[in-house]
Amino acid sequence: MKELILVKQGEMVLKGLNKKTFETLLIKNIKKAIINFGEFKIYTAQSTVYVEPLSENIYIDDVVDRLSKVFGIVSICRACICEKSMESIKNICDEYLPDFLFNFKSFKVEAKRADKKFPLNSPEICNELGGYILEKFPHLTVDVHNPDVCIIVEIRDYNAFVHGPVVRGAGGMPVGSNGRAMLLLSGGIDSPVAGYMTAKRGVSLFAVHFHSFPYTSERAKDKVIKLGNILSQYAGNFPVYVVPFTKLQEQIKEHCKEEFFTIIMRRLMMKIAEKIAIKDKCLALITGESIGQVASQTMEALYCTDKSVDIPVFRPVIGMDKDEIVVISRKIGCFETSLLPYDDCCTLFAPKHPKTKPNLEEILLSESNLDVEKLVNDAVNETYYVICK
Ligand code: ATP
Ligand code: MG
Repeated sequence: MKELILVKQGEMVLKGLNKKTFETLLIKNIKKAIINFGEFKIYTAQSTVYVEPLSENIYIDDVVDRLSKVFGIVSICRACICEKSMESIKNICDEYLPDFLFNFKSFKVEAKRADKKFPLNSPEICNELGGYILEKFPHLTVDVHNPDVCIIVEIRDYNAFVHGPVVRGAGGMPVGSNGRAMLLLSGGIDSPVAGYMTAKRGVSLFAVHFHSFPYTSERAKDKVIKLGNILSQYAGNFPVYVVPFTKLQEQIKEHCKEEFFTIIMRRLMMKIAEKIAIKDKCLALITGESIGQVASQTMEALYCTDKSVDIPVFRPVIGMDKDEIVVISRKIGCFETSLLPYDDCCTLFAPKHPKTKPNLEEILLSESNLDVEKLVNDAVNETYYVICK
């Protein structure tokens, strides 16, 4: 019995002439994702990617699990290859389906006959195989309208396939198909989710983290790298630029009005992130801000923050409530790590009474007490990076 994995491509199938580029990228991303699982032959036909294990001892479930985190895939399904005869197909059903079918009460057979020379047409295949399965698995009944499980048989050019369980893919588009962006990654819940949502649309991620040692500990930074590592399962490997931020914060505290501390700090973060982004050819900054979540995320505060840079700033979770963000955070496996206690530079020196409706002129006036250009350039020069993988 020879098993392989059928990967169904997502919406890129619709992309006309670009389809080939998307497909090539998806195959590259699939190869990278499963490189440590063993050797595979990977090829495409009719919008399906075939992942065929070549080495022994490959745990197919682990491979399927890994592929469920690759963007550009709508579904993943284990399948068995057999000869193109009803007898082989029935034998495979005997051998391959029992464990899987045990969990269900009703079924239907669906046949896809790409090879029109096959002696039975699709309804005939369904009838014959349906009858056979009923006989072999007496606990099952046929339900053509609302079955618990659909047993799919495909007759292709050279082989037939009997499908096993189908797993939902991560959706989206292959990472690398849609430019680059710089994610402002903190140790919280929101920014990893914002990064995930951006990568899902095919964008290659880069990240920047502001670290205020010794006010924020080494452990706080390690936590961010850990979140980056989880994110890289979806987004592929990416660098996190670590920016020493202490000096800037001390300068803000010394020279600016207390009620503006947070907004000015966020404006400096944006300016630094923009510089690093341009060096890496990123076309946007990404943050985990959501309207009204904290004082620095009111419409007025976001306006003042945005005015610090020319590059577009995208905020994928802008309209989401915290509990909605948490659902995604849990789904992608970041939540437990995001919950670990940590100190973020944003809470450091946070004013007791931040201005919730700041005015840009006032902010600029207060900020003019700083040598912004030098502070930003120094910070960029002291930046180092860690690769998340
Ligand atoms: P999160 O849960 O993502 O930390 P938050 O609710 O704590 O968000 P803020 O602390 O105000 O909100 O931060 C808003 C956004 O600013 C974050 O989502 C992130 O994109 C960015 N940010 C905050 N702190 C840092 C940091 N130390 N390094 C990099 N980016 C940061
Ligand atoms: Mg935060």
